Formats: sequence, C-alpha cells, structure tokens
Amino acid sequence: MSEIVAWAVQVFASVQSWLFMSVVEPVLFRLDGAGVMEQAYDGTEFFLLGLLQIAVLYVILRPLESWKPAERWADRRDVGVDIFYTFLHRLGLFSLALFFMLDPLIDDFTAQLRLHGIANFNLDDVWPGVTSIPLVAFCLYLVVLDFVNYWVHRGQHSFRWWWALHSLHHSQRQMSLWADDRNHLLDDLLRDAILALIAVAIGVQPGQFVLLLIATRSIETLQHANLRLSFGRWGEPLVVSPRFHRRHHAIGDGHEGVHRGCNFAVLFPIWDVLFGTSNFEEGYPATGIRDQLDSEAGQGRDYGRGFWGQQWLGLRRMIGR
Ligand SMILES: [Zn+2]
Ligand SMILES: [Zn+2]
Repeated sequence: MSEIVAWAVQVFASVQSWLFMSVVEPVLFRLDGAGVMEQAYDGTEFFLLGLLQIAVLYVILRPLESWKPAERWADRRDVGVDIFYTFLHRLGLFSLALFFMLDPLIDDFTAQLRLHGIANFNLDDVWPGVTSIPLVAFCLYLVVLDFVNYWVHRGQHSFRWWWALHSLHHSQRQMSLWADDRNHLLDDLLRDAILALIAVAIGVQPGQFVLLLIATRSIETLQHANLRLSFGRWGEPLVVSPRFHRRHHAIGDGHEGVHRGCNFAVLFPIWDVLFGTSNFEEGYPATGIRDQLDSEAGQGRDYGRGFWGQQWLGLRRMIGR
C-alpha cells in the first residue's frame, strides 16, 4: 500500500515539475515574473491537486448520482454552466492567489501593531504549542474557518445586496455535484478574501491552507450532488450531508423565514444547531428560489442561463434593478 502511495506521489511530483518547467516558467520569464517563482511552483501544485480532486470526485459521485438521484431530470441542460464555474474557480487559483497577496500585507500590518505594542492574535498564544502538532492544528483551523464560513453565509442571506449576488448559487434547479462553485464572481471574491484574511491572521501556513481548501471543497462537492443520501441519526448533526444541504437549497425553506433560510453550515451542522437555524426535516425537496416559479402575474424572475448572463443579472439585482 505504502509503495503505491509513494509511487503516486512521485508521479504527481514529476507531472508538477514538467508542467512548471515547460509552461509556467517560460511564461513567467516572458512576463518578468522571476520574483514570484516560488509561489508559482506552489500554484502549479494547487492547480494539479484541483484537477485531481475534480477527477476523483467525478469518478465516485457521478455513478452514485445515476444510481440514487434525489431528482430525475428529463435532460441535464442547466448543469453545463456549473461545470464551467467549477473549473474556473477550482483551477483558477483564485483563493491561493488571494492568500499569497494577503500574506505580506498582514505581515506589515502585524509589524505595525507590534511597533505600537499591540500583539496580534494567533492560536498558539491561546493554547501554546497546539499548532506544532500538524493534525491537531489542521482540525482546529478547519473548525475556526468553518465557523467564519457559517457567518459569511448568514451574511449572504441577510443583507439585501449580498443576497442579490448569492441568489445566483440558489437559482440552480438541477442541483448536481457541479453546483458548489456556481457563484457570482464578486461574491466569490468577497468570501475568499474574508477567509484568506482570517486564515493568515490566525497563523495558517500556505501548505496547510491548500489542504484546508481541498478538504472543505471535497465535502462541498458531495453535499451538492443530486443524491438521495443522508448520514443517519448520528451522522447528520456531525457533517453536512447532501440531504442537509438540499434543505438549504429548497424553494422557500432555503431563503425565507426569520433567518432568511436554514442549514447555513458549510461543514459542521453544529453551528446551525447552536444558533437556531438547523432544519433536519426528512425528504429531498425541489431546489430553487420562490420568485423563479411562474407567478399569476406572469413569468418568474430570470437568473440567466449562461455564465455572462448570470453575472450581469447578478450585478443588476445588486444595484436594485
Ligand atoms: Zn445559501
Ligand atoms: Zn449550496
């Protein structure tokens, strides 16, 4: 077993060096970017890990979707655009670039704070030595960032302008394993920037940040799959399942009521339980937004079918059109 892993790691490393030397390096030299070689090498790794992740998830989840779908569709016409979003966001190096951009800024900022006698926050200060055990540090960061994610998501539903953008994510009526990255680019930028900022601020290292992203996004892909799958009585409150997240996308339940929705958690439903926003109701409801349905007054709201249309309509909703 360990031999297979060692072999796989070696193959991965060779592909990474090949891609870096034959594509990334020449392009960087041309663009006068020799100063960011090290980051570009990490970026190449992230790109390949993203590609590998999409492939593995597709191979596992696609047959499951066919076997036990939550919904059966006559066609999959609306899924196509979500595939584009997935490749754009997961291979676009968006989050990692933000992390590298913010890292020196935060360094400057904390140096300034120290000059004025204010210490910056680090998990190691609260619990000395904790971040030196990699697995413990990883789990701790995962929980802290998930807590942040929960509140960002609450914000996306609470503020009118933010919901105008985030509603694009909810407008998918054929929710599948590709739906996670169907977001307005401005919404992505905001969320990723907040998360990268917090990650840098609490002392997450770049290598760890990549692993945290991969873990989070794998579970996010699973929970959007068109899959009749619940984690059972004990599992449902522990990790967000396809059934739990489908309720978040349900027409009505997902975006109405006092909290403007339910089941906001990204990884751990505990936040929804703690803050009174959980809904563990059985069933696999249809997904979408109430105003998309045909009303008596005529056609429902159009969120667009193609990428550019969806982005443009999102901006228009944001400015109140
Ligand atoms: Zn939402
Ligand atoms: Zn979702």
